[in-house]
Amino acid sequence: MSLSEFELIERFFKSRMTGVLNSAVRLGIGDDAAVIHGRAGQPLCVCTDVLVSGVHFPAGADPVEIGQRALRVNLSDLAAMGARPVCFTLGLTLPSVDEQWLSGFSSGLLGAAEQFGCSLAGGDTVRGPLSISITAIGEVPSGEPVRRSGAKPGDVLYVTGCLGDGQVALHYLDIDAAESTAHQSALAVAGQNSARKDLTPEDTVYLHGRFFRPEPRLDFADLARNLMSSAIDVSDGLHADAGHLAKASAVRLRINLDQLPFSQSVLRLTSEAERGNAALYGGDDYELCFTAETAYRSQIDAIAASVGLRVTAIGEVKHGSGVSLFDRGVAAPANHPHGFDHFSRVETP
Ligand code: ADP
Ligand code: MG
Repeated sequence: MSLSEFELIERFFKSRMTGVLNSAVRLGIGDDAAVIHGRAGQPLCVCTDVLVSGVHFPAGADPVEIGQRALRVNLSDLAAMGARPVCFTLGLTLPSVDEQWLSGFSSGLLGAAEQFGCSLAGGDTVRGPLSISITAIGEVPSGEPVRRSGAKPGDVLYVTGCLGDGQVALHYLDIDAAESTAHQSALAVAGQNSARKDLTPEDTVYLHGRFFRPEPRLDFADLARNLMSSAIDVSDGLHADAGHLAKASAVRLRINLDQLPFSQSVLRLTSEAERGNAALYGGDDYELCFTAETAYRSQIDAIAASVGLRVTAIGEVKHGSGVSLFDRGVAAPANHPHGFDHFSRVETP
């Protein structure tokens, strides 16, 4: 006999939400709505991500990893606002009650919830093709949320972590979600993807971790909130996401390709052209792209060092519009002017 909706919620979600992950959540799963006590006058940030099987993750992927990734990508949006996680709700559409899958999924999801102090406060569970919708709420304890719209000419453009890992992981680990087909074309732009190098066991572990457990840059964002003039998280490739930031701020962003940060694995596995394309047009990196006044540079570096995060200056904010690429001081063309867009995949002749 398969579990009822209410037994399922109790067994895999409510009973596993042990302890209070976040004290702002006064009432969690079990009533008609959750109750959150925000601190007086503080802004709350709310964001939603929907992940569909076969589009955002391969149908056969490990449910523990699906659960981890589903929450982490949402928390990356909170980090991009300079917000601290409070709680989230889960909209779960399941084709059937697969207890083994649910058990793995809830341990991945709630493992991430515990790690980041973000309570599961409610949700909805229905039957249908597998999809996961998460709405996360974050608080901004001091100052204002960081918007996309605050970049000023003269500011420095930065990125956290390394770029291109998500794309290279999709390519080398043969992660086969529909979206990855679009992403793979970014490596193929360089025309060299047929000669794959062998992955070392370390590369495999590293790339798998980077794809399924992206690290929301919450600690850095919390400390640097009041220094950042604008921020966005890089989920669809640096070119597209920097473009959104440029548009919102009504500025031009100059990106120096020779300053882009790459991991050892990406440096070893790809040619220069391939990794440039992976960073610019690939996606799935979940790093922060942000701007700050030049006067804050040493403070930014000190915060990055204090949380053990690589933060790299990759360009500058200029007057104008759009994104312009430079390689060793020379203007470089954009190869592939859009990041991933779910509704532009049908090629027009
Ligand atoms: P209602 O019919 O009032 O919307 P439901 O019967 O759908 O309530 O859900 C009962 C309780 O379980 C609610 O508190 C809801 O937030 C919670 N809930 C439902 N599905 C999930 C889920 N997938 N994860 C966490 N909580 C859930
Ligand atoms: Mg309901």
